[in-house]
Amino acid sequence: MTTPALWSAQAHMPSVIGRQINVVSAEGAYLTTDTGARLFDGTASLWYANIGHGREEMAQVAYEQMKTLEVYHVFGRYTNNRAIELSEKLVSIAPIDDAKVILNSGGSDSIDAALKLARRYWNHVGRTDKKVIVSREGSYHGLHAYGTSIAGLDFNREGYGTDSLVAGTERVGMHDAAAFAATIERLGAESIAAYIAEPVMGTGGVHPPQEGYFEEIQRLCRENDILFIADEVITGFGRTGEMFASSRYKLQPDIIVFAKGVTSGYGALGGTLVAPRVWHPFFEQGADSPIYRHGTTYSGHPVTAALALKNLEILEREGLVARSAELERVLARELKAIESHDFVTSTRVGGFLGGIELSSDVSAEFVTDQAIEQGFITRPLRGNTVQISPPFITTDQEVRDLVGAVRRVLDAAK
Ligand code: PLP
Repeated sequence: MTTPALWSAQAHMPSVIGRQINVVSAEGAYLTTDTGARLFDGTASLWYANIGHGREEMAQVAYEQMKTLEVYHVFGRYTNNRAIELSEKLVSIAPIDDAKVILNSGGSDSIDAALKLARRYWNHVGRTDKKVIVSREGSYHGLHAYGTSIAGLDFNREGYGTDSLVAGTERVGMHDAAAFAATIERLGAESIAAYIAEPVMGTGGVHPPQEGYFEEIQRLCRENDILFIADEVITGFGRTGEMFASSRYKLQPDIIVFAKGVTSGYGALGGTLVAPRVWHPFFEQGADSPIYRHGTTYSGHPVTAALALKNLEILEREGLVARSAELERVLARELKAIESHDFVTSTRVGGFLGGIELSSDVSAEFVTDQAIEQGFITRPLRGNTVQISPPFITTDQEVRDLVGAVRRVLDAAK
């Protein structure tokens, strides 16, 4: 048997061979496959095609930037105008006062940057035992060594010979602030560097925060000198109806990790926003100020930075963050209505992202496969949950049609 050269991501290869969906083009909220099928992108690819596919002006901006300066690195003394402009723009919209920006190539990269920085910071200020990173059950923080190690999705950590690729990781219950307090008690505050969470947990099954949860977590972080890191890779740039979910849920992170929505996927870009407390020692004049020895070849890439700037301009010009808030209300209504279905155990919405949790009568894999036959892309998540997170250019009717397609599949499965 011939097998494809492309080794797909997170795929059981024997099961996907012969069933692959080859996307050849995309426009707005729709994809076209090599068989000519037209599919509604009900997940905005992997939660990020927020301004929609195939925007001419995005292609134009990349073309213009490539003609002027396709790339130069930002190590040491080097910088470039687009990386400077993007960083200034991000600082101006960030929910952290006077932040600094580290640019990388994606979410997993930026998780590494954030967690290494947390440890580097504590080490520099003389708290050398502060190394442990605490994360939540069910969390997803990408698949580099740090993200794999802190993940609350056990299957992503299986088969590497040790439970954690990186030493010093701890997990606590998803909504359980008391478990965090107990972990601090057990390990001692002097050994914990940071707590990290997605404001709305995505891959773990779409879990918005419970009332009072983050207030308590932040109180514990403050009292115990633990850095609070918000992983806004999914929620950043409008997904929860505010530019950042940290504003919506009243979080005051020391570090925010972003990616995906910063370019709506038009460029491979991620980064971290860093609060003054953490960046200050690294910017102080003096021979002994520390160097944060981190960076990647494509940090500050001018083409992806130009794409991010244009994406942010489009979000603002077209009022798409406010539109995302409206779409959340439409989605919430539709999901409430489907809750009465025999095969639905619960639904959750936290921004314009929703999850439909199914009973054991039917699997989320089956439902998503059947929905594709009807022209709608959804995705199975942990906890037998179906993901819904379309682009912000979606119409109200398209939201209704998407949830309607899931309902028809469930009806047919009875
Ligand atoms: N953090 C969260 C919350 C994510 O959802 C993801 C990707 O889905 C990542 C980090 C990793 O981002 P990337 O896939 O760009 O490396």
